[in-house]
Amino acid sequence: LTGGELLTLLEQRTAESAEILRAAAVETARKAFGNRVYLRGLIEFTNYCKNDCYYCGIRCSNQKAERYRLTPEVILACCDAGYDLGFRTFVLQGGEDSWWTDDKLCSLIAAIKENHPDCALTLSIGERSRDSYAALKQVGADRYLLRHETANACHYRRLHPPALKLENRIRCLYDLKDLGYQVGAGMMVGAPGQTLANLVEDLQFLQKLQPHMVGMGPFLRHRDTPFANEPDGSAELTLYLLSMVRLLLPKVLLPATTALGTALEGGRERGILHGANVVMPNLSPADVRSKYLLYHDKLATGAESANGLAQLRRNLQAIGYEAVVARGDAPTL
Ligand code: SAM
Repeated sequence: LTGGELLTLLEQRTAESAEILRAAAVETARKAFGNRVYLRGLIEFTNYCKNDCYYCGIRCSNQKAERYRLTPEVILACCDAGYDLGFRTFVLQGGEDSWWTDDKLCSLIAAIKENHPDCALTLSIGERSRDSYAALKQVGADRYLLRHETANACHYRRLHPPALKLENRIRCLYDLKDLGYQVGAGMMVGAPGQTLANLVEDLQFLQKLQPHMVGMGPFLRHRDTPFANEPDGSAELTLYLLSMVRLLLPKVLLPATTALGTALEGGRERGILHGANVVMPNLSPADVRSKYLLYHDKLATGAESANGLAQLRRNLQAIGYEAVVARGDAPTL
């Protein structure tokens, strides 16, 4: 579709057009993945961050954030516990924390891969140099999530301090792809200042990049950020965009995000029913979970326990899906 046609789909969406896209997206996901939903074990291993993104609760200027950094031992224990529960992908996500040098990260990644050679490891630790990405890949990192946040340079400046540049974010994504990572990009829906035309630019950027994964959830405000009084992003528009992304990138790995689950009762299941095919339960230790607060009232799923995971499986079963134990690599593009 042209940009104009994508914009029309967004501007003139109705309950009827949403249902048509939804049904087509679910059919497309079923063709690529059957009724399988992949689970990823998310470990939020540090909330120290040197960046100051205006939307984010763990930005460095937020003095009220209670900072924590998990030790390598605790991270390895989270992976062991997750492995026993059936997880075969671990996602290490955190702020841009300078304590975690390449050397320290490389030792950690090598240890995780040694303990669990049959697992995939995803990193989500922000912008780094090409050399750093290469070193992390060399010791076993398989995938990298780095949302582009917005593909419009003006809008990017509205969301970030001047030191952060859209062109560097995009450079990172292309470097990661070039180095052989499975790469995830994505945006927040309803971020302050975002227009529907911006979302069209995001969709076109995704079409151009052809990422293996797309992470997309509603913007949700955090009271200790400059965006404390901005309205939350719309869950309805997020669902609509999930369907659009599924149709534009039929084989993409598409999570029903925690932010969507927070914004909407049963949001993750609704996400699956709009074309998503990945869920990322939190494996971080309970005592730090409330400190990784990107926005308020963040959903705590409890899927890290055997009981919680069984409940998630039942919820998915109830809507006709099966949570699978598998690495769930991206299908060849
Ligand atoms: N530091 C890494 C990075 O920048 O990619 C990973 C951690 S960062 C907290 C992960 C994602 O959280 C961001 O890409 C952003 O889209 C999302 N996020 C941050 N603040 C948010 C908010 N207030 N509402 C919704 N999502 C938010």
